[in-house]
Amino acid sequence: MKKNVIVYVIQALILAWLLLCTYRACGQTLIHVKHLSYDIIYNQDRLSPECVYYVLQADDFKGSIKSKPKYFKMDTKLPPPRRKNKDFRFTNYQRGHLCPSGDRDGRKDWFKDTFVTSNIVPMTPAVNGGVWKDIEEECRSLVLAGHKLKIVCGAFTAVSNTNLPGNRNWFVPDSLYKIAKCIHCDTLQRAWIVPNDSYYHSQGTCITFWNHISPKLNPTVSKFISIWINQ
Ligand SMILES: [Zn+2]
Repeated sequence: MKKNVIVYVIQALILAWLLLCTYRACGQTLIHVKHLSYDIIYNQDRLSPECVYYVLQADDFKGSIKSKPKYFKMDTKLPPPRRKNKDFRFTNYQRGHLCPSGDRDGRKDWFKDTFVTSNIVPMTPAVNGGVWKDIEEECRSLVLAGHKLKIVCGAFTAVSNTNLPGNRNWFVPDSLYKIAKCIHCDTLQRAWIVPNDSYYHSQGTCITFWNHISPKLNPTVSKFISIWINQ
């Protein structure tokens, strides 16, 4: 019992430290940003999100909001320099949501709040309109079947791509990851790794395990996710 309390206190301290601080880890500045219905761990050196996490339940999505804003707003919760909507307008990539607007259309303010540049990464049209969307729909189906999910997703952005118009320094993800775990059922846990390429992938062929995602992440982010998803 005493051991459990000590473990709990240690976990709580680590979590508090991660959530409340702007901190440096592995030479990278990570900033925790809280939005209305989801949170971001943002890499301020790359100006790209490391991960986005939130809980998904049936009331969160209704499919009732059809008109999407044309622009993604700068995230004023982050310090400058900030990504602008126009920064994403370059060849071959779309603005791919991490916390999808389709998971947050149960409330207008939540829906609108997903259209910020800190919640998107460059995705190929094949992925954004294909397997990434299929995985989002799979998560909503699980919720409609009675589960309440904790969801974490992000991008592996190891490679800097500077061969884009205007010599802009972009971290185009070579792949994306997503984890979904039911709060109630210990046995329901899904994980996917999606190559950010131009081929068709089914969500079934992208299924993987946390063990395969974890080593590819920034160690601080990986530690945070494993605590949050399991608590
Ligand atoms: Zn469940």
